[in-house]
Amino acid sequence: MGVNIVLSSPSGAGKTTITKKLSQKYSNIRVSISHTTRKPRPNEIDGLDYFFVSKYKFEDLIKKKNFYEHAKIFDNYYGTSKKLVEDFHKKKFDVVFDIDWQGTKQLSKYKELNLIKIFILPPDKLELKKRLIKRNQDNSEVVDKRLKQYENDIKHWNDYDYIVINNDLESCFNQIEKIIKNHKKKKLSLA
Ligand code: 5GP
Repeated sequence: MGVNIVLSSPSGAGKTTITKKLSQKYSNIRVSISHTTRKPRPNEIDGLDYFFVSKYKFEDLIKKKNFYEHAKIFDNYYGTSKKLVEDFHKKKFDVVFDIDWQGTKQLSKYKELNLIKIFILPPDKLELKKRLIKRNQDNSEVVDKRLKQYENDIKHWNDYDYIVINNDLESCFNQIEKIIKNHKKKKLSLA
């Protein structure tokens, strides 16, 4: 198995961009594509950004124990498919999980995953608001909800191994790269 990296952050802190950048730069890294009942945003593609499913289908997948973890966030369900991740593990890929603190808690119970847990924070709440508005993907009601959620999300920083502040995308990305490389080195020296 490669290394398993969780990247969590309040919505809008830049995590999705960083996740994509990691998988584009490193051919051995795969991003776990989650299932969600959320409606796709205009630029999102089914099977690439998420597997967009109905609530009925999602509940059926829960019953069939298809998920490593699942959570309700902003009135929608999100979950990590066991099958997809197991396929990545078989191929010895490193896997990045872009999931929230609830999912991280559940995934942490699988000790064999040896998770590296990284929490990305925006510089401050005002900057987060600017980014959410600039992203222009959600209406103002959703932006307000996400800002309220921010206070709740950041309470969980203590569940993580590393906290990285996203002041500047490049330097945040470099810090995360370093964390992953160090863990890979450690893992190799223990093997
Ligand atoms: P968004 O709707 O902005 O794409 O994602 C909202 C939140 O859901 C983000 O914090 C993201 O990390 C989280 N999320 C995405 N997929 C999953 C998942 O499979 N499980 C959990 N627990 N959270 C997820």
